[in-house]
Amino acid sequence: MKRIMAITLLLLTACRTPEPGLQQSATTPQIYFLVTFDDGPSIREKYNPTLAIINQLATNDIQPNIKALFFVQTEHPRGGGTPRGRDIMRYAHEQGHALGIHSVSPRGHVAHIKQPDDELIPELRQAQEVIRTITGSAPQFVRPPFGACNIRTRTIYDELGLELLMANVRAKDGVIYGFNGSLRRRSNICKALKKLRATADPHTVTCAVINFHDINPYTARHMTEYLHILVEEARRAGFSVPDKPFCSSPEEIIRVAEAVRLPPPNR
Ligand SMILES: [Zn+2]
Repeated sequence: MKRIMAITLLLLTACRTPEPGLQQSATTPQIYFLVTFDDGPSIREKYNPTLAIINQLATNDIQPNIKALFFVQTEHPRGGGTPRGRDIMRYAHEQGHALGIHSVSPRGHVAHIKQPDDELIPELRQAQEVIRTITGSAPQFVRPPFGACNIRTRTIYDELGLELLMANVRAKDGVIYGFNGSLRRRSNICKALKKLRATADPHTVTCAVINFHDINPYTARHMTEYLHILVEEARRAGFSVPDKPFCSSPEEIIRVAEAVRLPPPNR
């Protein structure tokens, strides 16, 4: 109970105001991670990367029972638009993970900025309804395909009650397939964490929102290693890393996401 209260206190102040009770030095900012995934769910039968990732988030040796935010493609004809895709989204929710909106088109991974209002708005509403049916509540966050958005689409998100959450640490695993050394996996994360550290306020907790792709079997096979890399490279970049540095409840996910989300456009 004490631990839950401590984490809650830490996150209530995350990225916002100084927290004198936190164990951190005057010059070492603390970091806290929210791992997020785009493009899922995968419906692969043989080795399902979405399920493999969910399993490793639960059982890894860094911090068991990590909870993540999955930005799903609710209507993808080879993913979230299928009965198996819906079952896997339901399973992710039952395991304590959060669902957000990614692509919404039955044509697949379509950029929102390429969709006219009379297509995008009803499809976003449909995606909200799909997730509400699965989880019992409306999704809070959206991350558009390719990260592509403009004033028009951001205004639409705002009007539909959706908050825009981009990542500030990208693993770039969406473009890593086949052969590549762990050097490259490490260097992408290292670079992003160093950039975060350069602007980190030592008196607040830095919230790192990490972007992975759960349809990538390569990511799935290396998920536990990625978690290790995040912790190691955060220390190397000059962050203080708490004992349990990853979100472990839906409430923590929301607090970290709210600290990093982009504000709605000015009207
Ligand atoms: Zn995507």
